[in-house]
Amino acid sequence: MLLDTLTKGFRKTVIAGNWKMNKTPSEAKALLEEIIPLVKDASCEVVACVPYVDLATALEVTQGTNIKIGAENCHWAESGAFTGEISAGMLKEIGVEYVVIGHSERRQYFGETDETVNKRVKAALAAGLKPIVCVGELLWERECDITTEVISRQLKLDLWGVTAEEMKNVVIAYEPVWAIGTGKTATAEQAEEVCEFIRMCLKAKYGLEIASGVTIQYGGSMNDANAAELLMKSNVDGGLIGGASLVAEKFAAIVDAAKPAEY
Ligand code: PEP
Repeated sequence: MLLDTLTKGFRKTVIAGNWKMNKTPSEAKALLEEIIPLVKDASCEVVACVPYVDLATALEVTQGTNIKIGAENCHWAESGAFTGEISAGMLKEIGVEYVVIGHSERRQYFGETDETVNKRVKAALAAGLKPIVCVGELLWERECDITTEVISRQLKLDLWGVTAEEMKNVVIAYEPVWAIGTGKTATAEQAEEVCEFIRMCLKAKYGLEIASGVTIQYGGSMNDANAAELLMKSNVDGGLIGGASLVAEKFAAIVDAAKPAEY
C-alpha cells in the first residue's frame, strides 16, 4: 500500500519490552542499567513494561534517559474493593506512561475477555496512560482461515467507545498467539498482512488520518535476528518483545533494527 509506505516515516516506532513475571527489583535495576547506554541513541520510542513491584525502581533508574516505563496490566475501576488489583490512576501518579492491555497470557490464564479489555483500555486512556492493546489469533483460528474475522472482532470490541482523539494515544500490538514464547515467528509477510488489515479496520472506523497515525507493533518471538525484516514492512511500526527483552544486547539490537531505512 503506497500510502502506508509514505506515512510509515511519520508514525512513532515503538519498541517495547514485556518482561512478564520476570526480574525482582534488584534484577530489574541491573538489567535497565545494562540497557540504558545501549539504547541511548535510539531513533524510536523505547519502553520497558515491567512487573508492578519493579515499577518504582524502573522509574528511578531510567529517570533522565530515553526509556519509558510501562505496566503489564491495570484494573478498570478508579478504586474500590478489588483486592490485589492496581488502578490506571495509581500507575499514572507514579510516572508510568504505557500499559499493556489484553495480552494473550491474560486472556488465556486469567479470564480476560474483550469486554474487560475494553474496560481497561478506557480506564487507561481516562487516566492519561497509553495502552498497548494486544490482539491476535490462535493457531487453530489461523488454520481455520478466520484470522481476519478474529482480529476484526477483537478490534471492534476492545476499542468500543474509544474516540478518534483517544486513538492518538493507543498502540495496537498484533501478537499471533501461536508465535508468543514459542520461537515460531510469523513471517514478515504474515505480520505485514495482518498489520495492514488492522490499519484498514482502523480506517473504516476512524478515517484515514487517524488510522495512518496509529502505531501497530508486531509481537511473537521477535528477536535480534528477525527484527530488521519485520520492522521493514510498511505497516509494522515496532515490536512488543517478550523473551528477547530480558537480554540487554538482544533488546538493544532490536531497537537498533528499528532505525529508519536511508533512501
Ligand atoms: C510477548 O510477551 O508479548 C511476546 C511477544 O513474547 P515473546 O517475544 O517471548 O514471544
